[in-house]
Amino acid sequence: TERSMALAEQAKRVAAEFEFPAEGVRAAVKEFIRELDEGLQKDGTEMSQIPTYVTAVPNGTEKGLYMAVDLGGTNFRVCSIQLHGNTTFSLTQSKVAIPRELMVAKTSKELFSFLAKQIEGFLKAHHSDHYAGTLRRRATISNVGGFKQEEIFNLGFTFSFPVHQIGINKGLLMRWTKGFDIQDAVGKDVCALLQTEIDELHLPVRVAALVNDTVGTLMARSYTSPGKTGTLLGAIFGTGTNGAYVEKLSKVSKLLNNKDAGDFDKSTGEMIVNTEWGSFDNSLRTLPNTSYDAALDKDSVNPGIQMFEKRVSGMFLGEILRLALVGLLKDPSVTLFRDDNSATNDVHSTTQIAESSPIWKQWGIDTSFLSICAGDSSAGLRITRQTLDKDYGINAVSAEDAEAVKLIANAVGKRAARLAAVAIGAIVIETGRLGTSKPSGTKTTEAKENLEPARGTVDEVTEDDVIDIGVDGSLVEFYPEFESYIREALREVPEIGVQGEKSVRIGIAKDGSGVGAALIALVAGSVE
Ligand code: ADP
Repeated sequence: TERSMALAEQAKRVAAEFEFPAEGVRAAVKEFIRELDEGLQKDGTEMSQIPTYVTAVPNGTEKGLYMAVDLGGTNFRVCSIQLHGNTTFSLTQSKVAIPRELMVAKTSKELFSFLAKQIEGFLKAHHSDHYAGTLRRRATISNVGGFKQEEIFNLGFTFSFPVHQIGINKGLLMRWTKGFDIQDAVGKDVCALLQTEIDELHLPVRVAALVNDTVGTLMARSYTSPGKTGTLLGAIFGTGTNGAYVEKLSKVSKLLNNKDAGDFDKSTGEMIVNTEWGSFDNSLRTLPNTSYDAALDKDSVNPGIQMFEKRVSGMFLGEILRLALVGLLKDPSVTLFRDDNSATNDVHSTTQIAESSPIWKQWGIDTSFLSICAGDSSAGLRITRQTLDKDYGINAVSAEDAEAVKLIANAVGKRAARLAAVAIGAIVIETGRLGTSKPSGTKTTEAKENLEPARGTVDEVTEDDVIDIGVDGSLVEFYPEFESYIREALREVPEIGVQGEKSVRIGIAKDGSGVGAALIALVAGSVE
């Protein structure tokens, strides 16, 4: 009908606002590389480029029993990890919700003694051998130093709040986020706070490493990933987005020039750097900026900050879509959700949006809805329509309306993936890993023998050329085609091209925060 044609046109117009063409990707990659370099040289830059004091990635042969804990938000996870030394591991874990009152406790001791007690409970439940052996002697032991070396668990502490890291197991809390507020902890070393409480319980546990979740992802992927070369980059596309990568130590000049920097092993010539890329291009030199992006930012708790993250990560994509849809709904000339649907539905009905529909509320649409739209290949987009009905209080939606919603949702999702490619592409270029083992003669010969045109064909990617990237987070894991959109954009960057894109291998890093933290505890333990 004429009306649905008009709606389709209007939806196309909004979707087009989210286009991020090849030139845009190239310009953003260039700016990303500039900011990476700047961040390595000085403090206070857009991307923080935090040196992590981790100087090597694992190769899968690492062995041993380690512990890991993760304090990131609502839950505290405790786990033990047995690394088998053949790229596999076994993991035992427990999880407790952090009581609300402890998040805003008067003293940090209240929170950290609670955490230590969870570690004690975990040891009793899952490692009673370890625990009992030390139990007899605990009365005479004042701290972890009193245990025999082989009795001690090295523990990796994943702590997902901003810290100023000054050593592999030393980091000063800069500020709390995510609803935590315990004033006396600010400025203190969070590893020491935890160790003190562990020692009070006389547990054979040493806080060996302070771990950022992106570094954990990188380490976990490198341990489990097949191949000769270690993983280059660990990237998270979940609630937020961030990445950590392997940088040449000689380029991390702000660390080398810092007289107060803690000790670390310089023999590998490498340092893993936590980019904090969520704040890439906060000044919007190259990031796309629609009216919906601007509105989202204005009404956020931190306007002008985390501008890359606000266009890429799960916390925000649903809201961008919501703002775009509400924009259409407020336009009287647009028929979205105003259909008389007698033609498309079995029962004569008119679309209705419940007054209480989350579509009217900030953060009302979850990013998982974008995945539902993108993955919906049912007739007449039945699944999308059902979800709008069930989860969003929008009843009797027509197939045309659902098409319009899907078109815009896909545009938001695709732009996010192309922006993700900017970060990945920039780091691939920055680290000079592209085509280091070229040229591969064998393939060309083969092509000639088969009388196939050698020109325009792409060389086989050999194991030496593989650039391995570990990813984690619901968005990259569940959004259909997220990786193919990333790849498409990578091919559009001239320095990468078709050949470079082929050599990029992207894989999910499972249980990153547990295994990764264990691996960092291992690396840290072997340094001392
Ligand atoms: P976190 O990053 O907090 O560790 P996740 O990786 O699960 O946890 O990311 C949660 C984010 O992912 C939320 O913002 C949520 O909206 C989004 N999300 C959850 N499920 C999906 C999905 N199926 N597709 C896309 N995004 C999703």
